[in-house]
Amino acid sequence: MGPVLSSLVDLQAVENELRNARAKLKKANQTLLRQQNKIKQLQDSILAQKEQIRNTRMDYDRLDLDRKSRDEDIAKMRVALNTARTNKEYSSVLSRINTDKADLSKLEEQLLQLLMEVESKQKLIVETEAQVKIEEENLTLILSDIEATRGDIQLDIDRLEERKEQLSSKLEPKLKDVFERLAERNDGDVMSEITEKDRICSGCYMGVPLELVNRLLTKDEVRTCPSCGRILFMNTGN
Ligand SMILES: [Zn+2]
Repeated sequence: MGPVLSSLVDLQAVENELRNARAKLKKANQTLLRQQNKIKQLQDSILAQKEQIRNTRMDYDRLDLDRKSRDEDIAKMRVALNTARTNKEYSSVLSRINTDKADLSKLEEQLLQLLMEVESKQKLIVETEAQVKIEEENLTLILSDIEATRGDIQLDIDRLEERKEQLSSKLEPKLKDVFERLAERNDGDVMSEITEKDRICSGCYMGVPLELVNRLLTKDEVRTCPSCGRILFMNTGN
């Protein structure tokens, strides 16, 4: 391999390390973000439960007022019952009392139902709050982990970027652009090795024409794979 292809292979090695380091940093940030979102969702669900409890309590108060007025009605009708002058009047009042009592018992059932709803939502809030606490502890762990590693990864990235700059400054500007373009297109995978024996491009596993192989064996040229467009090179062992 001549000096041009050789520096491209070196550049590829740095590119790989650089992409790994950036991916590590990205992953750490994503883990942090995911955990923060998880906590946010739990907190939002607590707020929603609290809002529902407020609404249920308002329903309760409304029904409770209704219940009180029925109670008062019944008390008044009981007085009327005692002062009824005819049998007809008596039985009419009695029937109204019975209807009101039936309504009252329905209301009491509804009120009980609402109380139970509030209670179960309060229980859910307590459980969710406990979960938030656990997730916040996890967040603290994730944060301290990131604090410990982020600096090192960033130092690696800085060092690799500098090294990449050094290596690519030795290349012709046009070739530097080709490398960057291919890196962009192939997720950093620019260089592809072919073996002399089976003449297969290791980037796409397609066969490489013999004529191309021979050129690579004899000349320090930038030639790309006809199938995937990666820059081909051969390790001839010397
Ligand atoms: Zn290929």
